Amino acid sequence: MTPAGEASWEANADLVVVGGGVAGLTAARAASLRGLKVLTVSKGGPTDTATQYAQGGIAVVGDLRTDSVDSHVADTCAAGAGLCDEDAVRSIVAGGADAVAALTDLGAVFDRGRDGAVSRTREGGHSTRRIIHAGGDATGAEVQRALNAAGLPVLFGAAAARVVTNDRGVVGLLVLSDEGLGVIHTPSVLLATGGLGQLYSCSTNPPGATADGIALALDAGAAVADVEFVQFHPTVLFTPGGIGRRPLISEAVRGEGAILVDGNGDSVTAGVHPMGDLAPRDVVSRAIADRIRRLGTDHVYLDARGLAGFAERFPTVTASCLAAGIDPAHQLIPVAPAAHYACGGVVTDVHGRTEVSGLYAAGEVARTGLHGANRLASNSLLEGLVVGERAGIAAVERSGLPVEVGSADLRSRPHVARDRMQALMTAHASVVRDGAGLSTAASELAGSVQLVPADATGLEDAALTVTAAALVLAARARTESRGCHTRSDFPEASESLRHGIEVRLGSDGELELPELVTAPN
Ligand SMILES: Cc1cc2nc3c(=O)[nH]c(=O)nc-3n(C[C@H](O)[C@H](O)[C@H](O)COP(=O)(O)OP(=O)(O)OC[C@H]3O[C@@H](n4cnc5c(N)ncnc54)[C@H](O)[C@@H]3O)c2cc1C
Repeated sequence: MTPAGEASWEANADLVVVGGGVAGLTAARAASLRGLKVLTVSKGGPTDTATQYAQGGIAVVGDLRTDSVDSHVADTCAAGAGLCDEDAVRSIVAGGADAVAALTDLGAVFDRGRDGAVSRTREGGHSTRRIIHAGGDATGAEVQRALNAAGLPVLFGAAAARVVTNDRGVVGLLVLSDEGLGVIHTPSVLLATGGLGQLYSCSTNPPGATADGIALALDAGAAVADVEFVQFHPTVLFTPGGIGRRPLISEAVRGEGAILVDGNGDSVTAGVHPMGDLAPRDVVSRAIADRIRRLGTDHVYLDARGLAGFAERFPTVTASCLAAGIDPAHQLIPVAPAAHYACGGVVTDVHGRTEVSGLYAAGEVARTGLHGANRLASNSLLEGLVVGERAGIAAVERSGLPVEVGSADLRSRPHVARDRMQALMTAHASVVRDGAGLSTAASELAGSVQLVPADATGLEDAALTVTAAALVLAARARTESRGCHTRSDFPEASESLRHGIEVRLGSDGELELPELVTAPN
């Protein structure tokens, strides 16, 4: 055990926010405005976030002549394939307009049309044009810029390592920084650590998307749910042998008229879904995976050659293509699916509260019930803004509570080497899964060694390992296909599984499913 007094450094705060993306900085600002002493820690730099990379935009109801909260709720629930919490969806969607107005007040600039009104585009699964964007396809960079410019104090290069609790809830956070292991005494910790894309060999996510918040929450006694629902983006730029973070070809490219074709020039989605190339992401990803398998290739193409003003509307996509030697104005863009978004995560209410007093979560790491079995495009920046703000406000409820970390250590944790784990998850828990592959993955993960993390990379590997195990456990129990979870051995949805699957860490350190779920297949 490491008594707090022996840590390299100590600090105090009313609230520690873990993560400097849209959810974390929005929460930190909301809490600071209410007088809380807030410390934000971020293991990366100011733009090492998924927020920075968001292209398409923010889904938010604007013009009530052509859109409504009801319509946005209906589209969200349709994408969520029966697992959205409709009350949570309505609450978050209804909060969108105010959240975007607050961001605009902070200085974020969204694209406007010739009439001066904010432009709105359409993306897969949306029944109308409701996606606002900035800099063409650089929405996330503008959101991140505006939030960074708010000047909130952030300790960069500092990785949250363990949430410390006692029987009344959170009392502190262990943090690994350049100064060594530190202890922050605090009654409230807000996890805003983003996604888990680094579970897979190819992802749209930045290198830091290593599921840290899920591991921190499980360790602190909170439940996670819906972690088996990983959304694979249908279209990342394919280059032979390319792994790690892959450039995204935004869905808005299809929204503006580009079409998906295979090497023979045939449509990939014809006859698959009434919305064709603009069907929900799981449908398009499966159609591509299926075509790739049938043709024995590793990619299909996006034909954007006919789109006027492509380079101006999509400067980020254009730059990525040109860097790979492809001119989208004259050439087909090679594309393939890659891990993109964690629909599930730490179980919270719409104010970011978990079941552990003083532990909050918001943004991609959280599971509010907004996304169900599949996220609707551009609903995640929305969620980060709305729930981030509310979680920052909720943390006021514990400010002033006297807390002190007595003693705490980093604990030994299961550890699988990163490249092995990514290969395992890519082979057995990707766009299409089956019982045999998931069982292979489970056996290998169960045989992992126990290590005390020595550094930030060790913390990430341990977080990925426990999250992979939770995902595989839930995916084995979900003996059906629903949303972005497809089982080739159970191709239909099952009414008896029309509920979320929770996973938690038992007192023996083993992951557990609640009793209502039958034995995994
Ligand atoms: C390429 C791409 C395009 C996208 N396009 C869109 C879009 O158009 N519209 C949309 O709505 N969504 C989009 N998304 C999804 C959306 O960007 C993310 O879901 C959202 O930005 C997540 O925000 P966040 O605040 O939860 O996490 P992030 O923005 O990822 O921030 C996470 C933060 O947590 C920090 N962190 C992580 N672990 C630790 C730790 N242990 N200790 C300390 N700090 C830690 C990181 O350093 C980072 O600062 C896109 C995602 C990607 C990758």
